[in-house]
Amino acid sequence: MNDFALQSRPSSHNTTDATIRELFNQNVVPSYSRFDLTLTHGKGSHVYDLHGRRYLDLGGGIAVCALGHAHPAMVEALTEQARRLMHVSNLYYTEPQGRLAQALVALIGPGKCFFTNSGGEANEGLFKLARKFGHDTGRFEILTAVNSFHGRTLAGIAATGQDKVKKGFEPMVAGFRHVPYNDLAAMRAALSPATVAILVEDIQGEGGVTPASPDYLLGLRALCDERNLLLLLDCVQSGHFRSGRFHGFQRILEDVPGGGAFLPDGISMAKSLGGGFPIGVFWARAPYADLLSAGTHGTTYGGSPLACAVALKVLEVIAGENLADNARHMGERLRAGLQSIIQQHPKLFRTVRGQGLMLGLELAPDAPGLNLPHKTPASVMTAKLQEAGLLLIPAGAQVLRILPALNLTEADAEEGLAILARVAADLDA
Ligand SMILES: *Cc1c(COP(=O)(O)O)cnc(C)c1O
Repeated sequence: MNDFALQSRPSSHNTTDATIRELFNQNVVPSYSRFDLTLTHGKGSHVYDLHGRRYLDLGGGIAVCALGHAHPAMVEALTEQARRLMHVSNLYYTEPQGRLAQALVALIGPGKCFFTNSGGEANEGLFKLARKFGHDTGRFEILTAVNSFHGRTLAGIAATGQDKVKKGFEPMVAGFRHVPYNDLAAMRAALSPATVAILVEDIQGEGGVTPASPDYLLGLRALCDERNLLLLLDCVQSGHFRSGRFHGFQRILEDVPGGGAFLPDGISMAKSLGGGFPIGVFWARAPYADLLSAGTHGTTYGGSPLACAVALKVLEVIAGENLADNARHMGERLRAGLQSIIQQHPKLFRTVRGQGLMLGLELAPDAPGLNLPHKTPASVMTAKLQEAGLLLIPAGAQVLRILPALNLTEADAEEGLAILARVAADLDA
């Protein structure tokens, strides 16, 4: 091993975009086509590249950085807990895990939590819960939605309703079928004697930011009650106050008669729960939580005191600074600004969808300047915005996602809308 390979700290000199790209080319599995940008640090809703150039980050690390970058309270919670106890395994009790589980149960409803390190693993836990629930009656099949996304594990890609994630990895894990989203009749028609659960996102993220309709959620609940099926919601991307309520389904149902009593049987969470520190969790409703008895499921890292202390601090800051309301208000502010940009550039944009600070801006089918060979219009637009100093996240070929920090300021929102308006004007010229 040479000296360079042993360097554990980033060097400030002799580091260029080209040298870092070469490290990736030589040593990192090429499963991502990355944007041409090397980031070094961040503060609030801004990140900085190797050259000190500042970008407004409205992608939030794909809906992860709930408090933005380098939030002092998070850094303090992280270092304080690190000095005390980082990890001990799940063979012992630790206070942060117990307190975080208590906080999540209080925010959702009667039930219990199992902690993981990612959203994909949280979904794997729900799949096992469903299999256990159906085992004695020979039921195992889980119905999911077309255009859904449930993670990149082997069962995760089987559950995901998009061919592109499955291609080349067949045969798929058995027991998953996909049904059109927001179509209750189709779901009812798709049930088989082997069906044990229905899993959907309350707001589809990777599929292009599509919220479930209130009738769909209430109808799925009634259908699952009628047929003794588990209703599982993947709230990994939409959850943790991004919508303006703790979960997207709570926001979708808040003004609907009977909506306040709605509870699924299982929920997966991750992304912004840790604000950037890896953590995932599934919650299972009271009667089902005990199905996974001692020895039936496990994880080495999941629920470490470090991860749980950070997540508790994120929830505390969100509550203390009323960031749920901020997500709601900034979401309305951004949505109104986007609507007016769409109206000025109908050739470029089609519509904006979503809840709170989970918004999807859909590009028009033949938007000028965005149709390049081997690239999707969404990725071309994302690269153009990046050049102009704004980071967004593509979803599929036609949608740009806005998933910013929940403490987004009015000035941040104005800056983002101004950059988007400028790039749109250039393209439309
Ligand atoms: C991101 C995501 C996942 C996967 O989470 P990982 O932490 O990447 O494993 C699962 N479901 C949804 C809805 C997601 O957005």
